[in-house]
Amino acid sequence: MQDYPATVAERNRWITLRRGSKRSLNPLRPYAFFAEDEIDGARIQAATNTLFLTNRECRYRCLMCDLWQDTLDETTPIGAIPAQIEFALANLPPAKQIKLYNAGSFFDPLSVPVEDYRRIAGLVDNFSRVIVECHPNLIGDQCLAFNDLIPAQLEVAIGLETVNDAVLDKLNKRFTVQDFRRAAAQLCGAGIDLRVFLLVRPPFLTEAEAVEWAMRSLDEAFDCGATVCTLIPVRAGNGAMEALQRAGLWDRPQLKSLETTMEYGLRQQRGRVFADLWDLDGKSGCVCDAERILRLAVMNRTQLIPEAVVCKLCAES
Ligand code: SF4
Ligand SMILES: [Zn+2]
Repeated sequence: MQDYPATVAERNRWITLRRGSKRSLNPLRPYAFFAEDEIDGARIQAATNTLFLTNRECRYRCLMCDLWQDTLDETTPIGAIPAQIEFALANLPPAKQIKLYNAGSFFDPLSVPVEDYRRIAGLVDNFSRVIVECHPNLIGDQCLAFNDLIPAQLEVAIGLETVNDAVLDKLNKRFTVQDFRRAAAQLCGAGIDLRVFLLVRPPFLTEAEAVEWAMRSLDEAFDCGATVCTLIPVRAGNGAMEALQRAGLWDRPQLKSLETTMEYGLRQQRGRVFADLWDLDGKSGCVCDAERILRLAVMNRTQLIPEAVVCKLCAES
């Protein structure tokens, strides 16, 4: 393959050139929502309403991101986000916590208009925890203003992805580990909880290197005050990842790598660790896949480490 571009402008172009089409979305409806249970900081299963809000596409162009597929091209109209939340909540059972994920940054005013904060705050005032996601560069006054409006505990999820600075740069994340530390300190200083998303097997690393860096990334996230980390196995599907895969610069992570990283995180006992199991089934191609996914689901639910899966085809357990 030609060299992967070195500048942000060239990378943005390289990444977007490989994209397919977006889905057509109604700005007055979330593009997905569901009820789930998630073990909380007190180790109690907390009923959780998870919403995926429809809004303007994120301003960044991260290499592995496929979230743009469910976004709008235009600035989110004022009133659309509250309308989406109202719709979802009318169709979901009562819950303790709510995730308002938006395929980008909640505190990007082009995605979630500041004018809507007060209405949003009114809609979520029955929840004890409100969880949103945001790029570290966009954590600032708007985040603090929203926090002041809600009675609930605010939790902000940041996609740190990896603490390998060279890889972070190539991922086109547009922030450094130092920027993440600053954002984390700002959140913690304001009494806002921190959740961190980390990648298992980003491109430009071997499988073994990726496990090592995922563990280091967990350490850094907890050092910076994270109360929960979610491990996300990198997946194909956005065009760019397939191009890297063809060039031998990336491959789908093995489930064993996800298990190893998860076990490490749980053993530290510094906070909760979850594995994102979306779209994993049958993807690594071994007969033990289903058993490993089940084991990861048990780890998610209990935060304990069950017996290892023994598989002759995988050579080791
Ligand atoms: S900041 Fe998040 S939503 Fe935006 S492009 Fe990067 S990974 Fe995707
Ligand atoms: Zn196997």
